Amino acid sequence: MENVKEFMAGVIRKNPGELEFHQAVEEVAESLAPFLKENPRYAEANILERMIIPERIIIFRVPWLDDKQKVQVNTGYRIEMNSAIGPYKGGLRFHPSVNLGILKFLAFEQVFKNSLTTLPMGGGKGGSDFDPKGKTDTEVMKFCQSFMSELFRHIGENTDVPAGDIGVGAREIGFMFGQYKRLRNEFTGVLTGKAIGWGGSLIRPEATGYGCVYFVQEMLKTRGEDIAGKVCTVSGSGNVAQYTAEKLMELGAKVVTFSDSAGFVHKSAGFTAHDLKFVFELKNVKRGRISECAKALEGCTYTAGKRPWGIPCDIAFPSATQNEIDENDAKTLVKNGCYVIGEGANMPTVPDAVKVFQEARILYAPGKAANAGGVSTSGLEMSQNSMRTSWTREEVDQKLRRIKVNIHESCVKYGREEDGYINYVKGANIAGFVKVADAMLDQGVV
Ligand code: NDP
Repeated sequence: MENVKEFMAGVIRKNPGELEFHQAVEEVAESLAPFLKENPRYAEANILERMIIPERIIIFRVPWLDDKQKVQVNTGYRIEMNSAIGPYKGGLRFHPSVNLGILKFLAFEQVFKNSLTTLPMGGGKGGSDFDPKGKTDTEVMKFCQSFMSELFRHIGENTDVPAGDIGVGAREIGFMFGQYKRLRNEFTGVLTGKAIGWGGSLIRPEATGYGCVYFVQEMLKTRGEDIAGKVCTVSGSGNVAQYTAEKLMELGAKVVTFSDSAGFVHKSAGFTAHDLKFVFELKNVKRGRISECAKALEGCTYTAGKRPWGIPCDIAFPSATQNEIDENDAKTLVKNGCYVIGEGANMPTVPDAVKVFQEARILYAPGKAANAGGVSTSGLEMSQNSMRTSWTREEVDQKLRRIKVNIHESCVKYGREEDGYINYVKGANIAGFVKVADAMLDQGVV
């Protein structure tokens, strides 16, 4: 890559309409440009040019029968992005917004994230435009079985190991694992995020949220501060948001918001352990809407159609989806005194908003560093499956913490700027790139 603008013109021409993918690649290209100039061996081997093209993309038809015996059909995808340092690894997303560009952005980010964990995992991502919302358990099962009836021939414990993401939790992983086992007639660790009774790892459900909080703790330490007493806004109310909130509350921080795609809830006194239990039950069992908190929890209000970034806080944890903080949101957060951002979601902040955070010199952790705890613990689940053993909660949590501390150290190593400011975006992108790029150099032109 000689020049980022020209490079991006090529990316846009060859991947038309894939806006999120362009956004993810541009961020990496900008971070890497000076580094590639100083280290010409990567540019000479066209490493970045190779990394932006998936090793393989699988697109398939997913037909299924709903409860009224009507034929439904969705599109299924798996992007096998890069296997230089291990089997493809990354989640499956079931959401109506899913398309090729979104999955390519997620798979590309996953390559860097997985490299940062120091575990031997390549990068992949997949999913479908299927919407689990409003479907019965039987319909979800039928969809998952049909999805796996094609996907099974492309994955395997040494090839490609999917996990959950938006819309794919313990229920969906269970249905897909059952179908894989039936078709292959083998019990292997082909998916992570499994339930604890049949090959799952303790702490895997908690890992993305807990890991994000551990990373923020490390960032705060660079300023001699602790998380206790901090006011935190959290967006989303799914897996990542729930366990981010749980860990924050355990550490003495005050969580004041949750959201979903319809709006957000706010409790200025901070949600209690009882409130959090209600949110867990509401979202994971009843599969209800976050607005119901306002009716059930004292001191809680609901605002429809808005995101929570107007609520003053010390730390913001965007934990719902991509591009949920725009430039105006970023300016509002900074104006209201927010000085730490921990991205639980993948790419939740638009590029102009990232600039606002960095120019304000606040602590800003991009998703690929902050939310890598989930895939790290998936990697630990794979190790336990291979060894046919299971570690205790404490053992897994300790390993997760260690990994997050290491990722933080890598970001500091590559991301410190002349004035001492740690640019975590640059740090994560360079540190993630080096390991994969060196492996690609070693393995020749493949
Ligand atoms: P869940 O499906 O458990 O929860 C998703 C939450 O985000 C829900 O509250 C959902 O609200 C909200 N949401 C989804 N889409 C939108 C949208 N377009 N606009 C506004 N809100 C939305 O997913 P996870 O918690 O697992 O994932 C959340 C984020 O974290 C994603 O970006 C994911 O890629 C990332 N992530 C997840 C990991 C994991 O281990 N699960 C690992 C690393 C990153 P609603 O119910 O209304 O749809």
